[in-house]
Amino acid sequence: MLNDAQLLRYSRQILLAEWDIDAQQKLSSSRVLMIGMGGLGCPAAMSLARAGLGFLRIVDFDTVDESNLQRQTLFNAQDIGQPKVLAAKNALNLINPWIEIDIVQDRVDAGNLPTLLTNIDLVLDGSDNFATRDAVNKACVDAKIPLLSAAAIGFEGQMTLILPDHACYRCLFQDAPIEDARRCADTGVLATTTAVMGAMQAHTALLFLGMGVTSLSERLLLWDGLGLNQRQIRYQKDPECPVCRAKNT
Ligand SMILES: [Zn+2]
Repeated sequence: MLNDAQLLRYSRQILLAEWDIDAQQKLSSSRVLMIGMGGLGCPAAMSLARAGLGFLRIVDFDTVDESNLQRQTLFNAQDIGQPKVLAAKNALNLINPWIEIDIVQDRVDAGNLPTLLTNIDLVLDGSDNFATRDAVNKACVDAKIPLLSAAAIGFEGQMTLILPDHACYRCLFQDAPIEDARRCADTGVLATTTAVMGAMQAHTALLFLGMGVTSLSERLLLWDGLGLNQRQIRYQKDPECPVCRAKNT
């Protein structure tokens, strides 16, 4: 399945007792949808491409802006004005010629999510607002597709894994506003906060896709980039959750 060049490229991780050739082959046949190619999406996509992911679909409506270059690690000054999905695809294919990349330049909403989710094994949400994260959660619950949702702002990051028939994003954030009060555009984010959380999202995706690790299900990981602390908070399925309740009846 893997050719000689691929076996050489991935040899340092195939050497791991926990990550053997089976895990590598699982990753090479895995299909990921990435929502947003920003501060989280760029480092997450880069690590997954380097590690040997088979298929990546990326969706983002935006073009590269000067203010993106501080943290969006797949872009350079020559990309300014280009669609992010196109610049990202070009950068990722230079890193790894074997990864198949499907790009969609569009805003994500309830209307196009079912199509975007077609034949996807895991969704990585790196969008910057609650409305999108909520819509992605609902679509993943409906389609029974695992979702790894992450967010970063200022010096703080958070991430959780939402599995089919388990507690969902709305169970966790029951009374969230329609629009986030805090967004990068308004309050700022340190370059390394998104780099840490994007790498952590890719890391958790590798554990899930290659090794079947689901330890972040029904747990919210919180990373404090000022105190350099990390902790997890457990949460449970809300029997009254308007998103996932109907799925259990
Ligand atoms: Zn729920």
